[in-house]
Amino acid sequence: MNDRALLTGQRPMVFAGAPLDRGEVLRRDEDRLAALIGGDEGWWLILRDGEPLLQPDGAVFWFRRSELDGLGLGPERIFLGHYKGTPCFAAQLAKDSPLPDGVEMLDARRAAMGLSPDEAAIYGQARSLLAWHGRHGFCAGCGTATQIRSGGARRVCPACHSEHYPRVDPVVIMLAVNGEECLLGRQAAWPPAMWSALAGFVEPAETLEEACARELKEEAGVTADMHAIRYVMGQPWPFPGSLMIGLVAPVSDAAITVDTHELETARWFHRDEVRAMLDGTHPDAAMPPSIAIARRLAELWVDGAI
Ligand SMILES: [Zn+2]
Repeated sequence: MNDRALLTGQRPMVFAGAPLDRGEVLRRDEDRLAALIGGDEGWWLILRDGEPLLQPDGAVFWFRRSELDGLGLGPERIFLGHYKGTPCFAAQLAKDSPLPDGVEMLDARRAAMGLSPDEAAIYGQARSLLAWHGRHGFCAGCGTATQIRSGGARRVCPACHSEHYPRVDPVVIMLAVNGEECLLGRQAAWPPAMWSALAGFVEPAETLEEACARELKEEAGVTADMHAIRYVMGQPWPFPGSLMIGLVAPVSDAAITVDTHELETARWFHRDEVRAMLDGTHPDAAMPPSIAIARRLAELWVDGAI
C-alpha cells in the first residue's frame, strides 16, 4: 500500500467500502439459500423504483421477514450477504404498490448521502442487483424467461442452459493535469456553473489508460501522456451498474478542441481556481457535490496528493 492508497482509503467514497460477507460458499447451496431467504432471520432492505425506503431520520428502514407480507413486493428476493453475522436481503416494491406506513423516501443520491457508509454501500449493491434482475428476465441467447440462482448472483436459462451474471460497466473518470492546471468540462444539461472531470465508458479491447486517452482526445482534443496515467481510486456507481475508475492523466499536448456533441465546453483551471470552487468561493464556477468522485479527485490534486 502506498501513501496515496492510505490517504484515499481513510475516507471511502459513497457506495464504496462494501461491508458484507457475500457468502460465496453458501451461494452454491440452493436449498440452504432458499431456507435462509424464506426464514425469519435477518433484515430486508426494500426499494421502490430503485430508491430505498428510509426511516424518518434518513437511515435505512430495515424490515423483518414477517413484515414483508402485504407490502406488494416484486418477484425477486436477493441475498446480499451477512453483515456482522446477520443475513441481509433486498427486494423491490412492485409497481404502484403503496408506500408502507412510517417510511420515507428521497431521491437516490440524496438518500445515499444521508446514509452511514455501510448502509450506503449495501444500498448501492442492492440497487445495482435489483436493476440488473429487472432488465434480465429473458435469455439474451434464446429469449426464454430466465430463473434467479445463487441468491441473485446469477440467472440461468432453462432452455439453452446459459448463465447470466450481473454486469459491471467500467467508466474511466480522469483529471487531466498540466502543471498547475487541470482540465474540467461541462455539459449543457448540468446546473449552471457546474464543472467536472471528463469521463467515459471503457470500450471493448481497451486498457484503462487507452480509454482515458481516447476520451480526452475525443471530447477535448488534448493528448494524454499514456505512460504517466495513474489510478487513484474507484467508486461503485449504482446508476445502474457502473464502476467509476478515477485516474489522473498528465497531458503532453494541452491544446483544447471541444467536441460540442459531448460537451458544452471545457477549459483549463488553475489550482487556485479549483481550490476556490471546492471552497464555494469561486464567483461563477463550482464542482459537483461530495458524492461525486470527480470532486475527490480535484480535492486530492489541489492538496498535492496526486
Ligand atoms: Zn437461453
